[in-house]
Amino acid sequence: MTSKFLWVCFLLAALTLAKTYSLQPDQQKVLLVSFDGFRWDYLYRVPTPHFHYVMKHGVHVKQVTNIFITKTYPNHYTLVTGLFAENHGIVANDMFDPILNKSFSLDNMDIYDSEFWEEATPIWITNQRAGHTSGAAMWPGTDVKIHESFPTHYLPYNESVSFEERVAKIIEWFTSKEPINLGLLYWEEPDDMGHHLGPDSPLMGPVISDTDHKLGYLIQMLKKAKLWNVLNLIITSDHGMTQCSEERVIELDQYLDRDHYTLIDQSPVAAILPKEGKFDEVYEALAHAHPNLTVYKKEEIPERWHYRYNSRIQPIIAVADNGWYVLRNKSDDFLLGNHGYDNALAEMHPIFLAHGPAFRKNFTREAMNSTDLYPLLCHLLNITGMPHNGSLRNVQDLLSSTAPRASPYTQSPPFLRGGVKPRENEQEESYAYFLGVSLGAIIVIVFLITFTKHLIRSQIPALPDFQSEISQPLLQA
Ligand SMILES: [Zn+2]
Repeated sequence: MTSKFLWVCFLLAALTLAKTYSLQPDQQKVLLVSFDGFRWDYLYRVPTPHFHYVMKHGVHVKQVTNIFITKTYPNHYTLVTGLFAENHGIVANDMFDPILNKSFSLDNMDIYDSEFWEEATPIWITNQRAGHTSGAAMWPGTDVKIHESFPTHYLPYNESVSFEERVAKIIEWFTSKEPINLGLLYWEEPDDMGHHLGPDSPLMGPVISDTDHKLGYLIQMLKKAKLWNVLNLIITSDHGMTQCSEERVIELDQYLDRDHYTLIDQSPVAAILPKEGKFDEVYEALAHAHPNLTVYKKEEIPERWHYRYNSRIQPIIAVADNGWYVLRNKSDDFLLGNHGYDNALAEMHPIFLAHGPAFRKNFTREAMNSTDLYPLLCHLLNITGMPHNGSLRNVQDLLSSTAPRASPYTQSPPFLRGGVKPRENEQEESYAYFLGVSLGAIIVIVFLITFTKHLIRSQIPALPDFQSEISQPLLQA
């Protein structure tokens, strides 16, 4: 009887601790999907039944604050590093590094120089260093050699590869003999059409519907491969989109002499490198040029943008108000929709939904930062992350109460600019985690006490009987 009780205690303790400390290996699979330029409110523009299916059976965050500048490459690198642009070094889609004396340009797909990417370590590399394998279908940066590595499996970027082909590759990697635990999937829409039509165009309805059908296809394929219930699917985006107009164009040629500066990046954040000795002249000419253009010297860029301490950020930046366009003159390319503006603007915010064994069901959270995704990914993959600017605590309530919380969380060292304070990190372990550990510990203690008592009793069996005998007369008296 006693030995049975001891075994039950022991099993309970072991189970509690095991449940607290480890995810089932199958449930550590993560598929991160980005639909480029999917603004948060597109979910309500037209019926999007597949997005709403994920929300109903999973989690949804209403407001995701992404990073400045709200462009594709800076934000995609933040999603996989948890760092602000000044810390990960991909500060724009078009950059010039004065130390390397090299340029980076998305327009010419001149993005394959490793040195631009190596101020950070993206999650697929950290995942692989931890002994796992990753697979990437067109996610920005995954076909670049970074710190001597590529993802275990990846597709070289080619926009003509269909969504269905990308999904097929992802499924193949997740179900192979040596399956990946991290998949990254990227799709160019609704960004492309958002630029051409402008987000306010009624023609955006069919574009959003098409993206919803694509998500439906992905869900169908995951179910067919029996991955739907074991894989953690996260659907997000890099930024939103705002309506522009040819009525709202700021022409730099009206204020600046082209010989006095180099325009590194254009709209809506003009990155200006003045020629030698021309800084004051350029700054003064631009500072009060237009009521919808705010001009900053690098050292005066607002702290909240975390966009100052990197040599690729130019000496002067000129930031257009929402919906305004910066061009040298009207012969430059103009698009009806654009992004890149202040990351406080709702128009710039992306979506965030997730579904899987680690997530709650039908749960909505008000807000998060896009930097918080990285510690969440590290937690789900059960890997130790690199220093970052996010906080797992901000998003911990997205996780199901039965999902383990013992994350190998990281602390941002003090030198990481804009890093969360270590104290904040110390509180990241949840109450559920403490409850699990405490319960496990209590059961172990009870087990030890009972075991010790049992041992003592078996050593001196006559003592309790003797005591009860001498107490009898007293009780009777
Ligand atoms: Zn875009």
